[in-house]
Amino acid sequence: MERGVKAALFIGGIVALALGGFSGRKAKSGLIRPPGAVDEALFLSTCLRCGQCAQVCPQKAIRIGYGDKGISLGTPYIEPRQAACNLCMDCARVCPSRALRETAKENVRMGLAEINQDACLAWQGDECKICYTSCPFFNRAIQLEDHKRPVVNRNVCAGCGICEYVCIASPAAVTVKAGR
Ligand code: SF4
Ligand code: SF4
Repeated sequence: MERGVKAALFIGGIVALALGGFSGRKAKSGLIRPPGAVDEALFLSTCLRCGQCAQVCPQKAIRIGYGDKGISLGTPYIEPRQAACNLCMDCARVCPSRALRETAKENVRMGLAEINQDACLAWQGDECKICYTSCPFFNRAIQLEDHKRPVVNRNVCAGCGICEYVCIASPAAVTVKAGR
């Protein structure tokens, strides 16, 4: 194991221990965690802040929290408008603490996509189906009302953020909210 990784694991372990008291309580960071993350309170006390998930992500979708993220300092999160997750699960496979756990795509719940109908081009009468055609759960997580207007099916949406990433409205008319 590289020296830098060892140091990260050591520091992360100390932070995780210090945060251990949160594991029994509800915690809400508002951050979208990588796929397969355990519940937020447990995540905060389990994640070692080693950054290995971010290193392997082929999408470069995983960011690491800086000081402005408070208790989430050093933890991984995703900003879908910058780079979305393709549900490959490479991050969960390398996570040494099992804060991320390999999960079948259908069972991933990183967050939930929400459509702002006032900003959505299709809901405003234009021809646009980009989120619908880009969603990895085609015609299931996003369905078309009247063959035109996108609607999110919360029972299927994984919160991967691909719809938010590809949305051509500015700002995006579909956004993923964390914390399901
Ligand atoms: S599943 Fe793959 S693409 Fe998604 S965050 Fe993890 S490593 Fe990146
Ligand atoms: S609706 Fe959006 S966030 Fe949900 S699975 Fe489809 S692309 Fe991912």
